[in-house]
Amino acid sequence: MTQALLAVESLTKRFADRASVTGRVRGHAAATLTALDDVSIAVAPGETLGIVGESGSGKSTLARCIMRLYEPDAGSITFDGQDVLGANGAQLRALRRAIQMVYQDPYSSLNPRLRIGSAIAEPAIVHGLIERGEGDRFAGDLLERVGLSRETAPRYAHEFSGGQRQRIAIARSLAVRPRLLIADEAVSALDVSIQAQLLALLEEIRRDLGLTMVFISHQLSVISRLADRVAIMYLGRVVESGSTADVFADPRHPYTQMLLEAHPRLDGTRVPRPRLTTDTPSPYEIPAGCRFHPRCPLAEERCMSIDPPEVEIPSARGGHLSACHVLPMREAITEAAVRERTPSP
Ligand code: SF4
Repeated sequence: MTQALLAVESLTKRFADRASVTGRVRGHAAATLTALDDVSIAVAPGETLGIVGESGSGKSTLARCIMRLYEPDAGSITFDGQDVLGANGAQLRALRRAIQMVYQDPYSSLNPRLRIGSAIAEPAIVHGLIERGEGDRFAGDLLERVGLSRETAPRYAHEFSGGQRQRIAIARSLAVRPRLLIADEAVSALDVSIQAQLLALLEEIRRDLGLTMVFISHQLSVISRLADRVAIMYLGRVVESGSTADVFADPRHPYTQMLLEAHPRLDGTRVPRPRLTTDTPSPYEIPAGCRFHPRCPLAEERCMSIDPPEVEIPSARGGHLSACHVLPMREAITEAAVRERTPSP
């Protein structure tokens, strides 16, 4: 990979629960929630990295650590060669301009009492990118850039649909000329047709502006459309990563395989689907050994006690890693599903 624009190394973030003083956290004895455990990712300039995982996998915590909304307990974050965790004052303000985030609920990030033209122009004025007198023209140009009429600038956020509000949030983030856009479940709450329109818009913006993106989603279909590379997260850890094409064509971690089998195959074939039937274990009590072993149909004895290291899988584009002792081919998971559904004699 060329020099990464964003590099996260061995990041760990734990949260101490306030209720822990009583020792009774959701019925668990342990008082610390492990949201991220030794997570490393890198994103090259102009690349889109997709981060996939179920709720509680740590993907949003990772985004918030990159933005310095959470302070990690260990590890490092480098943006364009600069130490993000060591930044303060003017450095931190500059970083927060260069890295913009689009959230799942745009309404929460838009001031309901501010006309959207002002909401878009104000950050650029504050950062000294435009003069106050240029605000109307600037906001109008950005509204048109995201597919809305410039005549909508005097309206308020509540007057727009969810999809339109997300377009406004994207315009607002583009206003400060970011280099990295982090989209955290940015289209998840929207109808499929609106999702498709927003994904097309994000693809266009990325291409035209040369933006680097981190796209966080639990929807594999969204990731497969946008991401050049993908990191699959499970219970605070990246368990598989590589180019999206390689990982989707030859997933070698049972969790990735089960996520993929839960979605229809592109060639329309129907296969017995192994199901992620049990809940994700509590992040208060990460299982010993491989953290996926309580849900893994291929778990072996060693999986219960030995944390699997990342292993490089031979791949067309290189850099395909999977943290599994077995590294099964995808067929092994469907065979496990068939066994599960065949009654024993
Ligand atoms: Fe399953 Fe073992 Fe691989 Fe973990 S290490 S994913 S339990 S086979």
